[in-house]
Amino acid sequence: MSKPMFENIALVGIGLIGSSLARVIRREGLARHIAVASRSAETLKRAKELKLGDDYTTDARKAARGADLIIVSVPVGACGAVAEEIQPALMNGAILTDVCSAKSSVIAQMQPHVPEGVHFIPGHPLADTEKSGPDAGFADLFDNRWCIFTPVPDTDPDALERLSEFWRRCGANIDTMDPQHHDMTLAIVSHLPHIIAYNIVGTADDLQSATKSEVIKYSASGFRDFTRLAASDPTMWRDVCLDNKDAIVEMLVRFSENLSFLQRAIRWGEGGKLFDLFTRTRAVRRSVVGQDVGLADFGR
Ligand code: NAP
Repeated sequence: MSKPMFENIALVGIGLIGSSLARVIRREGLARHIAVASRSAETLKRAKELKLGDDYTTDARKAARGADLIIVSVPVGACGAVAEEIQPALMNGAILTDVCSAKSSVIAQMQPHVPEGVHFIPGHPLADTEKSGPDAGFADLFDNRWCIFTPVPDTDPDALERLSEFWRRCGANIDTMDPQHHDMTLAIVSHLPHIIAYNIVGTADDLQSATKSEVIKYSASGFRDFTRLAASDPTMWRDVCLDNKDAIVEMLVRFSENLSFLQRAIRWGEGGKLFDLFTRTRAVRRSVVGQDVGLADFGR
């Protein structure tokens, strides 16, 4: 096996993303030592049982001490407090990164706590499942998924390349963009679909119990696809909504306008308008499926 890329990686947060990282770091031999930190003793105990690291602590600062790569994998709303907590332990020359789903907010929360000489490189692996916690992770989670960096001004190109190589070895493809663009893009490709799913499933759950049992019985007709997204972690998605508010509200406004158009076409029996829209959206599906099966699409 080749020389590890990092001497000591600190994983602050060991849920779905942190534990998937732990597994792939181990499999690929990317670190000589993995320090695991989690807020609760319970999660930490489970991480230990799963042998995800070498050291375990509920003290994030202790985990970060002496680490040359620190990866923060906690809910968006907790990033600022974590950065403040680990600040005194951050080593000169270390790379500090995160995996959070909303970037402008994370930068605003974390950057003020980053000491001079530490390379802060915000990141986001687009690797979703609806599960959470250390048991949910797996080493292949990032295979052929995008990892997007939203570098801050004056990011050291060598540190960025080193972190990019780390993620490539974890299986991911790399892209970079500015944080606002990331947040707007993710609002439509990820955040809005989750909000719509939460709303559809919530609406069904409000129905009278007789109808509700039929919803479950006949769910394969479409509803089931939404329940996977609507089963996603409530803390994570509460934070994404609050921390990417502007972009999400902008997309919701556009969505509501288009919904009114659809509603009107249905009410007035304007079949041509419906047919045209459904034809256009069918073409989008074909390009997205191409992405899943690795066809030459979206740069994959
Ligand atoms: P998760 O499975 O729920 O794990 C969360 C981890 O953060 C746990 O170790 C948890 O500790 C810790 N934590 C929770 N609240 C905290 C707080 N207030 N302060 C400090 N630590 C706290 O979450 P995840 O799915 O790995 O998500 C982590 C991050 O990755 C989020 O920012 C999310 O936006 C991003 N992300 C998620 C996905 C996805 O599909 N899930 C995909 C891409 C990016 P305890 O369990 O000990 O409380």
